[in-house]
Amino acid sequence: MRPISENLNCGLQSSIDMSSFFKKRVATFEHGIHPDYHKETGSLPIQRLPFAPKLYVPLSQHVGKPAIAIVRVGQEVLRGEVIAKADGMFSLPIHAPATGIVEAILPVPSDSGAMEMAIIIRVYQADGQEIRVRNPQNLDGLTGVALAMIMQQIGVAGKGGAVFPTHAKLIPPNGCVIDTLIVNGSECEPFLTCDHRIMVERAQHIMTGIDFARRVCGAPRAIIGVEDNKPDAIAALTAALPGDGSVTVKVVETKYPQGAAETLTYTLLGREVPVGKRSSSIGVVMNNVMTMAYVGKLLPLGEGMTERVVTVAGPAVDRPGNYIVPLGTPLHFLLDSVGAKSRAKEVILGGPMMGIAIASLDTPVTKGVCGVLAFGKKDDTEQRTYPCIHCGKCVKACPKKLNPTQMGMLAAKREYELMADQFFLAECFECGCCSYVCPSHIPLVQQFRVAKSFLKDRKTAA
Ligand code: SF4
Ligand code: SF4
Repeated sequence: MRPISENLNCGLQSSIDMSSFFKKRVATFEHGIHPDYHKETGSLPIQRLPFAPKLYVPLSQHVGKPAIAIVRVGQEVLRGEVIAKADGMFSLPIHAPATGIVEAILPVPSDSGAMEMAIIIRVYQADGQEIRVRNPQNLDGLTGVALAMIMQQIGVAGKGGAVFPTHAKLIPPNGCVIDTLIVNGSECEPFLTCDHRIMVERAQHIMTGIDFARRVCGAPRAIIGVEDNKPDAIAALTAALPGDGSVTVKVVETKYPQGAAETLTYTLLGREVPVGKRSSSIGVVMNNVMTMAYVGKLLPLGEGMTERVVTVAGPAVDRPGNYIVPLGTPLHFLLDSVGAKSRAKEVILGGPMMGIAIASLDTPVTKGVCGVLAFGKKDDTEQRTYPCIHCGKCVKACPKKLNPTQMGMLAAKREYELMADQFFLAECFECGCCSYVCPSHIPLVQQFRVAKSFLKDRKTAA
């Protein structure tokens, strides 16, 4: 095994021998897959994207209630200023991502396909775009809900997956005691490397964020789970660990979907979340490394979230990499900036396994967008489907040990209730492993999404 310093591309000098990490690699979950990872951008330093002439800043960028606009058309706004206030505890304020003029407040396309109300800011191109408004507060000795309420003011939402308001996710429900904060540095989706670069370049921010998060949720320890294909990230985090042993780095096998909440919790702690319960019921809260990095950077400064790091990659991108993107940047500007707009025929927000194909390049980058992938031909992602040959590959791939074969056959007959009642459809977390391995190219996960959506709509209508 080579010493870690030879594996690094971040300039970090370390005497840590990686063999000690790999020997300690923890056992992992069953099933899953090993897709082609295409993570070449993981070796490139983070760059800053220019400001678009106009930013489309949605009032809803997270799970929970949308923010309430507090600016009017024609008003000048300063970068970092609150332009929409939180609507209750399960909501977040929105900060101006750039200094400029509010040009309109109107609906814009969103990744859900629906139109979402947004504040349109015409950006002052001549402005240096420094952060102009901050609200630092004394955080000494604060814990629990008191600290969470100040954390809410910086507007950070989960940077991976469901985009929960971070402060709200950290507060344990009544009666739950959190013994472990899991920090997810797995980043198992192909193409995505923004978490990887954050771990390499902002390890100290991650440690500061973990300290605040532990003070809110009360966890006596934190474990950072990182896949073994990121040795430079493992080294950078290890070098930044606090000396009291309260935070550890655990190396986990590179396997998809290692970064899903269920699988990483099982890998690190051997605990399974009971059906229908939240991870807090087994003493765990999970946050992403990117989330921790932004909490650690912004909270001490009292600075609102105005930008995020996004992986921009895919075969249609001339200059792939990780970019700091102002929130509200429309995809057409982002793709133009990396030389992809003219060739991009299919654009996916997120990774190729769990991401969403978007219909309009006017869709803006929001707090939960970790990746923008551009493909040159629709044929890259679409294939002809054939009948099921009962090979069982989907069953062997499913990390939740469900039966995608049976669910797929029922979905084709629109027997959605049977899927839910007899085959635990609700347990499917839509990782896409079954679709990926299916030799008949049956779009199983898409069928399961349709089934869930149908059942949800029917329940709402009842
Ligand atoms: S998408 Fe659902 S059914 Fe398919 S492998 Fe993942 S968890 Fe299993
Ligand atoms: S992998 Fe595809 S073809 Fe094989 S059993 Fe599953 S659905 Fe059928």
